[in-house]
Order: sequence, then C-alpha cells, then structure tokens
Amino acid sequence: MSAGGEYDCIVIGAGVQGSFTAYQLVKKKRKTLLLDQFVLPHTRGSSHGQTRIIRRAYEQDFYTHMMEECYELWAQLEREAAVRLYRQTGLLVMGPESSESYQQFKDTLQRNKVPMVLLTSDNFSQHIPHVHLAEGDGALVDTSAGVLYADRALRTVQGLFQRMGGVIRDKEKVTDIKPGPVVTVSTSAGVYRAKSVVITCGAWANSLLAPTGLQLPLKVVKINVCYWKEKVAGSYDVKRRFPCFLLTEGEESKEHIYGLPSNEYPGLVKICYHMGSETDPDQRDKQTDRSDIDILQRYVARCLPGLDPEPAVVESCMYTLTPDRHFVLDCHPVHRNIVIGAGFSGHGFKFGPIIGKLLCELSLGDVPSYDLSPFRIQRFQAKTKSAL
Ligand SMILES: Cc1cc2nc3c(=O)[nH]c(=O)nc-3n(C[C@H](O)[C@H](O)[C@H](O)COP(=O)(O)OP(=O)(O)OC[C@H]3O[C@@H](n4cnc5c(N)ncnc54)[C@H](O)[C@@H]3O)c2cc1C
Repeated sequence: MSAGGEYDCIVIGAGVQGSFTAYQLVKKKRKTLLLDQFVLPHTRGSSHGQTRIIRRAYEQDFYTHMMEECYELWAQLEREAAVRLYRQTGLLVMGPESSESYQQFKDTLQRNKVPMVLLTSDNFSQHIPHVHLAEGDGALVDTSAGVLYADRALRTVQGLFQRMGGVIRDKEKVTDIKPGPVVTVSTSAGVYRAKSVVITCGAWANSLLAPTGLQLPLKVVKINVCYWKEKVAGSYDVKRRFPCFLLTEGEESKEHIYGLPSNEYPGLVKICYHMGSETDPDQRDKQTDRSDIDILQRYVARCLPGLDPEPAVVESCMYTLTPDRHFVLDCHPVHRNIVIGAGFSGHGFKFGPIIGKLLCELSLGDVPSYDLSPFRIQRFQAKTKSAL
C-alpha cells in the first residue's frame, strides 16, 4: 500500500536545518512530516560527523546577534533532552593584524561586547602551546565558543520531534512538488498534501526547487575532512584546554583554515580547509581533487609542529555555497507557502536552532524574529539585473 496523508507542514530534508524546523513546528502543535531520501542517520549530506564549531566570532554583526539567542536555544535543548551537546573550548582567531577580515572579527566581538581575550606575540605561546603564530598575525580568543556534538544533536532533535507526535519518513525521496494553496509532495513511496512545505535539502536544493520554477545560484563543493595525528599524544587535547581555532587567511591561502581539538578520534585533531572542489551531490566520491589537502599539509608543517603533516584519516562532507556565503532563508517568490532554507555555505550548523525557529515562523506566516534581508532570494535577482 502506498504512503500518503495530509499535514499542516511537510519538511523535506532531515539534516540539521530540516530537523530543527520540524521540531519547532511540532512544538507549535502543527501536524508535521519530516522526509529524507536516505535511511537516517546517513553520511551523504552536510550535517553528519561528531563535531562542529559554535562561536559568536563573525565578520558580520547580524550573525553575532543571532548567536546570542542561539546559544540559549542550544542550552534549552540540552535541558529538555537531558543530554550534553556543547563543550566550551574557546575559539582562537588568528590572521594578519592588518587584514580586513581579522579586523572585522575583532571589531564585531568588541562592538557586541562578546567576552574575548586578546593575545600578543609575547604571551601567545604561553596560552596556546604547539602553535606557531605567523609574523604580523593578530590573535584573539572568543572565550564562549566551543564544540557542538553534531550527530548527537541531530539524534536528539529528531527524537524530541517524534516524541511530540511528529512523523519522520526516511528512505523516501521527494520526486515532485506541485505548488498551490495546498502543496502536493510526491515521493518514492506515496503522495502527501500540506498547507505549507519547507525545503531544507542542502546540496540537493536546486533539484527540489526545479518543479517550482526557481533555481538559486548555489555551488556544491566536496570538503575533505582531515584528521591529523599528534606526535605526542595529548598535546592538543581537552585537558590542556586547547581551543578550536580559525585562521582567517595565511601564507597558504585566502580561505579560512579551521581546527577542533582532539575529540572523536583520540589523538587526532580535525583540521579542514574552508573550501573544496565542485561536485554533483550524487557523485561526491568521484571528486578526488586533493589540492585543499596540499594547502593544509603546508600549513600544518609550518604552524602546528606537534602534528604529523600527513592526514591520518580523511572523510567527506559537502558545502552548498551562495555567492556571498550568506544563507537563503525566505519564502518562494511566487508560491509563498513554500519556504526555503538553503546555501548554508559551510557555517550553518551552529545556527540550527535559530534557523529552525525562523523557517517555522516563515511557514506559519508569522513576522520573523530577525531581519532576514541578508538572507533574501531577491539579493541574487537584484545583482543579476544590475549586471545586465
Ligand atoms: C566538513 C564540514 C565542516 C563544517 N563545520 C561547521 C562548523 O564547524 N560550524 C558550523 O556552524 N557549520 C559547519 N558546517 C556547516 C554545516 O554542517 C552545514 O551548514 C549544515 O549541516 C547544513 O545542513 P542542511 O540541513 O542544510 O543540509 P544537509 O545536512 O545536507 O541536509 C539535507 C537533507 O536533505 C535530504 N534530501 C535531499 N534531497 C532530497 C529529496 N529529494 N527527498 C528527500 N530528502 C532529500 C538529504 O538526504 C539530506 O539529509 C560544516 C560542514 C562541513 C561539510
């Protein structure tokens, strides 16, 4: 017998953003269905893996402002489910003192009175052992930053959603969306109808949007998630209070390099390059470019002398990038009961609870809690027009 049914809202895509949106909707007593094409949990999207960085340090005030409430929402979730999802480590931000990017991080933190510590080249190694600070680089620590337990967070929010009556149907690929006052969603197993639909399909967003007549300027890249072995076990671990870190730009590249202390694989430190090579999300593992790993190897050899400069483990993940690297949080320009959360550009996990709240507000027609102008679809259309 084929599946089907009527819902207040259908959320398509059970990564971090879809799962938090579904959770918010069911909390508001909406009959909600959460669909995913794969059996959950899976490692084919962008939300898998054990850890993500959470931070207030941003170049733009609007992210720092959103993080204020977001930390509170993460803490609420921890209390509600009685699980630990966050470990405070601090985030070390490094970058050329004279560069715009480093200055923007510093200014945003100072302007918003976020607790932070400025380090100098004299006291740096005393606070941060086994890291070489490049000549001319500034360093500061966003002290409230830390690590989120990503897989556990997804399990938790999906579990709470189900406990409150939400329905998850995995291994059910959405094959068609028919817009209208009631939206019809066809999947590999059946046909569903709902007053509103939220599309949170990560790297597959444009495939899902095609039947609605919309395409976003999204680029999907494969990220090589690299883990590096400590030469002396424990040099970069929690007991020594080693922080997460972010290098805004360096000798090796203009893109960020970021790292997290040894956690999921004891003795291995996760360090990644904030860019990868373009891929089709269904053919991710056919993308075998390793130029990002070459960049990381040079950086590790130069600045992290306590690590073996050859990754011990390489896993895969994907970023879905917008041209300005800001998210898409908006209603469909024609079909207003279709809401889109997309283009999280490699930095969306920490915002999961607040994005869930915002997408829920959009799907219910409520006034969003934040100014969503940086995230509107129209910003791409305006650019296209002026370029013509
Ligand atoms: C290596 C790496 C490190 C990162 N580090 C950080 C970090 O430190 N801090 C941070 O804040 N963020 C970080 N991010 C970014 C963050 O993880 C992503 O922004 C976030 O996970 C995106 O979530 P999503 O729900 O949009 O996408 P996804 O998790 O990919 O979810 C989309 C879901 O939609 C489903 N789907 C697609 N098509 C269909 C269909 N037709 N039918 C049904 N289901 C469908 C997919 O199967 C998938 O489960 C990192 C990302 C990567 C890759």
